[in-house]
Amino acid sequence: MPFARVLIDGPSELVFDYSFPDDLTVSPGCRVRVPLRNRDATGTVLSIEPMQDLGFATRPLSSLIDPEPLLTATLLELAQWIANYYGSTMESVIRALLPESIRAEEHSAKVQKMVQLMQMPSEEKIQSIGKKAPKQQNILLLLNGCPERKMLLSELGQGAHSSVKSLVKQGYVQVVEEEIRREPDADQQEQVIESFPLPLNNEQAQALEVAKQAMAEPSKPILLLGVTGSGKTEVYLQAARHTINQGKTVLVLVPEISLTPQTVRRFKARFAALDDQVAVLHSHLSQGERFDEWHRIRNGKASIVIGARSAIFAPLPNLGLIIVDEEHDQSYKQDTSPRYHGRDIAVLRAKLEKCAIILGSATPSLESFHNAQEGKYTLVRLNQRADSHSMPLVRVLDMRLEQQKQKNSHAIFSDKLRQALELRLERGEQSILFLNRRGFARSLQCPACGHACQCPHCSIALTYHRTEDRLMCHVCGYQSIVPRKCPECKDPAIALQGYGTQKVEEVLAKLIPKAKFARIDADAMRKKNTLRDMLHAFKSKKIDILIGTQMIAKGLHFPNVTLVGILNADIGLHVPDFRAAERTFQLITQVAGRAGRGELEGEVIVQTATPHAPAIQFARRHDFDGFSEQELEFRREFQFPPYGRCAVLTVRSTHERRAEFTLQTLHRRLLENLPPEIQVSEPLPSPLIRSHGQFRFQITLRSLHARPLTKHVQCVLQKTTLPEDVTATFDMDAISFM
Ligand code: ADP
Ligand code: ZN
Repeated sequence: MPFARVLIDGPSELVFDYSFPDDLTVSPGCRVRVPLRNRDATGTVLSIEPMQDLGFATRPLSSLIDPEPLLTATLLELAQWIANYYGSTMESVIRALLPESIRAEEHSAKVQKMVQLMQMPSEEKIQSIGKKAPKQQNILLLLNGCPERKMLLSELGQGAHSSVKSLVKQGYVQVVEEEIRREPDADQQEQVIESFPLPLNNEQAQALEVAKQAMAEPSKPILLLGVTGSGKTEVYLQAARHTINQGKTVLVLVPEISLTPQTVRRFKARFAALDDQVAVLHSHLSQGERFDEWHRIRNGKASIVIGARSAIFAPLPNLGLIIVDEEHDQSYKQDTSPRYHGRDIAVLRAKLEKCAIILGSATPSLESFHNAQEGKYTLVRLNQRADSHSMPLVRVLDMRLEQQKQKNSHAIFSDKLRQALELRLERGEQSILFLNRRGFARSLQCPACGHACQCPHCSIALTYHRTEDRLMCHVCGYQSIVPRKCPECKDPAIALQGYGTQKVEEVLAKLIPKAKFARIDADAMRKKNTLRDMLHAFKSKKIDILIGTQMIAKGLHFPNVTLVGILNADIGLHVPDFRAAERTFQLITQVAGRAGRGELEGEVIVQTATPHAPAIQFARRHDFDGFSEQELEFRREFQFPPYGRCAVLTVRSTHERRAEFTLQTLHRRLLENLPPEIQVSEPLPSPLIRSHGQFRFQITLRSLHARPLTKHVQCVLQKTTLPEDVTATFDMDAISFM
């Protein structure tokens, strides 16, 4: 008799074998109830093991929770791979695949009672019913008037129960239970108008051809490198249509649903005729909605699923195509365990499912681009904007000269940018201003003693927010009142330094009083639907100038925007991270790409204190090839990714010495029996040494291959007992070194 190997729910990563009766169909991916010591537990079947004499009797499992396995064989395989590769527990991976809302039994399908008309009595009979029981007559007439001749019992009004009961007895109606879907977008009431395929230009047509080829036979992943506005989305849409026509399903990953509303809407519009076959997995679905969407997908009722990172685990049967839009985006990396990279898991899933995959971006990650150069991916390029308009003209302005000229070392707007904004206003065109820092002032600092107000829980200066008149921590959210004199030396000259989006808003109001503007950043977006409403107002030209952080960098398409101003373009350039230049290049290119997407020519003004930085100059020329060539050279020289793997081991504790000491112990053990391909850095304080009240110390590890590195670190961690209030986390393919 074979037995089931079950991973028990809970943090302890327990795996036990259980027997089961012949007449019970148990397969991998099933959820089960099992006895565990003297209590009951739930778990997931990992595998069915062949009969074996273990020398002791296995206990039988109690029951199946769901009749069908919740996970497919491929998803289980994917889970195992993630656990090994990222060094996470299988339990945490299974929890990522089957979130609480899906496994919890109380969220199960919602059913409602419907009254269905079986047979309409004759005209005379109706009359006679009407005399004796007018309520019954009423119900029969109501039902007869409905398209499907049925209605919700609850809609038939108060006291309908007894009338319905009597009608059931007479055989005119029956009561049926129907599963109803908790419709996620029900509150949005957005009208979707069907869109139709555009005739493709040559480059697009070729890209589509390559995608069709990949669907016909198992092939390499496709890297679609298309400049901003080159019509990548149209290629995705037509590739998706082709997949569906072949009876297969499509999975679309976007960086963040709430920040890419236009992309989602374009998919909904193109497949409007398929109606509810498009499932959108938002992060703000209620637990019940998530349960319903997940089961709809599992049961093959959705043919397209759109979602962010975790949607890569959507249990779509018969997958034909995976699309990863903006594949370079950092939000694809999960920042809690399991720390998987959604794009990389997508590539693996495509391989396991033997389906096609398109990774698309105007600024691909160097990892993906390198894979294309090595021949592991098929590179397809769209070099022209789809509507044959030219790329916007990008000017780089040296703000140091500008500040000398204006005799103002705090100048936010160059004269050029101000004039350009005024010109757009005169012409009735729109502008976008980008600054990747929210709040009003970067810090509050005393000119006398140099004291800067810091978060008491994090090693970072507090940002001043004018709207709330508060100092706030952008790491942990701590807030405090604003001191009127220096807390250290009592000097009242304590002053605001640097600027954020709130200040830009204020200065702009004085500079160009006629302009109507709006600000989009995490502070302004606290309320639900604000982003959607603001983008809508911008689209309908009720706003002249949109000010925003990276929230407006992605995928927005506004044909009337002819000017983009990037304030302080080097904000992200001087941080201790080998990807700093790559990120700056991506951000400038993406933001600049919001300009000139219609009939009118676009202009971009980049303000910077380091105008000669290569990332800025290559972005100015829209030169991805030039940038990647130079940057890859640097990566190769120092063996940074993509020429090797990079991981971070971090130790956290509220006690500074204890964290540091623990990391030193781990460091010593890592050096014992160190495989020669692995390089281990010295243990150092994290750049942000204190965060959320915890001190952090870290070691950076590099290796040619991932597996030996993960294995070595896991081995050391397993051998080491950490002090009670110390935690260690391992981040394979880390993208954050803060
Ligand atoms: P990307 O996703 O590459 O930034 P989009 O898909 O947003 O580009 O396309 C930019 C604009 O060009 C959109 O307005 C889109 O409708 C239009 N477009 C795309 N393909 C074509 C085409 N073949 N012919 C005409 N217009 C197109
Ligand atoms: Zn803080």
